[in-house]
Amino acid sequence: MCSAILPGPIPTFERWSPEKRMSVRHVILDRDGVLNHDAPPGSYVREPAEFRWLPGALEGLALLRRAGLRLSVATNQAGVGRGLMSLEQLHAVHERMQAQAAAHGGALDAVLYCPHAPEEQCACRKPAPGLIQTAVARSGIAASDTILVGDDQRDLEAARLAGVPAVLVRTGKGRRTEELMGHAAVPAYDDLSQLARAIVASAVDERPRGK
Ligand SMILES: [Mg+2]
Ligand SMILES: [Zn+2]
Repeated sequence: MCSAILPGPIPTFERWSPEKRMSVRHVILDRDGVLNHDAPPGSYVREPAEFRWLPGALEGLALLRRAGLRLSVATNQAGVGRGLMSLEQLHAVHERMQAQAAAHGGALDAVLYCPHAPEEQCACRKPAPGLIQTAVARSGIAASDTILVGDDQRDLEAARLAGVPAVLVRTGKGRRTEELMGHAAVPAYDDLSQLARAIVASAVDERPRGK
């Protein structure tokens, strides 16, 4: 394996070709660990008040939205299938998340969730690709013109199976995931705002300047 750790820049979105960077029109985001702080291990965000935005998340959503990108959320919420929270509770959490995102200029176009427990062997729980495929189908934007942002290896695997390029953020489980996968395996950003700035900057930089 040539995964020896070499000094040098960490690979990021910038290494994608200008054409590839320009083509991104849809961002699919994992929720816990990307938008909000994870609940403690074994527990879930069950109430709106327990949903706490990560630093940079609201700003990142707003930057992407202002650049004209479609925003979808795709999240595993097995707490529902395990009977630890109700669908009504999950909807209340998502209503507040959407309201706050919109109030900060980063309105979400779609929020997709898998409510199933792992034992149910559904097709939507990441690393299965179902949620991602649904997000792509609803968008009308090609999988290859979409990127997925995740913090967990399951997110990256679901993206791979759905044919969607993926990037990692170092929030939530992101640093641990980056270590597990090797630092060169996937582009990684400190948080959503850093990634959003890279996407927006590269889109603008490659455009011919007006006279
Ligand atoms: Mg996550
Ligand atoms: Zn499911």
